[in-house]
Amino acid sequence: MDQERQVSRKLPRPLEIIQRLEKAIPEPETALHHKTPFQLLVATILSAQCTDARVNRVTPSLFQRYSTPDDFSKAGLADLEAVIRSTGFYKNKAKNIVGCARAVVYRFKGQVPGTMEALLTLPGVGRKTANVVLGSVFGKPALVVDTHVRRVANRLKLTQSNHPDQIEIDLGRLLPKEKWTSGAHRILLHGRHVCTARNPHCLACPLFNLCPAEAEKKRAAGRGAL
Ligand code: SF4
Repeated sequence: MDQERQVSRKLPRPLEIIQRLEKAIPEPETALHHKTPFQLLVATILSAQCTDARVNRVTPSLFQRYSTPDDFSKAGLADLEAVIRSTGFYKNKAKNIVGCARAVVYRFKGQVPGTMEALLTLPGVGRKTANVVLGSVFGKPALVVDTHVRRVANRLKLTQSNHPDQIEIDLGRLLPKEKWTSGAHRILLHGRHVCTARNPHCLACPLFNLCPAEAEKKRAAGRGAL
């Protein structure tokens, strides 16, 4: 009887959301191709305002030309800019990547640091990039908040904020630490493929009856959107 009660007890909504996303996305794809922690750092810097697919088209030739932090620290800006041009904001990104490489070489003995505090001291590295590295490279609980996570978290009313730092705090409060990295990753993929910015696929959404975004759902029903 006790066991039955335990089984039928409802999960808190945020956990139910994550559980359904775990079923819908059993093996989340790794988005940015890389072979080393520093290459992931570079790819993540490049992914700002750019799709992962485009970054993945650029990084094979980029990493063939420059592979290690030492290589990147000696890169000529004009040469680097030419290779990464198609990712947009290439002048800033090139400057940040070289600055980042120099900091890693000179301040961290060539190793990407493994704490939020240290990562945030690197040029071009904000909390999103730092969380990507902490979660993927160091296996630390890390909530990556990008544009997809921001949109989905708002539609699901897991936050009332539009600011990534606050959304990170709100999701951190709602989810157990062991679900931070994988949970945020699944929310991101859900946003990329189902809960899209325009015309979300509500009628095919595994979170439909948990989602308070009635306006989106009505619009989707109106167009019979699958
Ligand atoms: S029901 Fe629609 S708005 Fe809500 S999470 Fe799903 S796709 Fe997004």
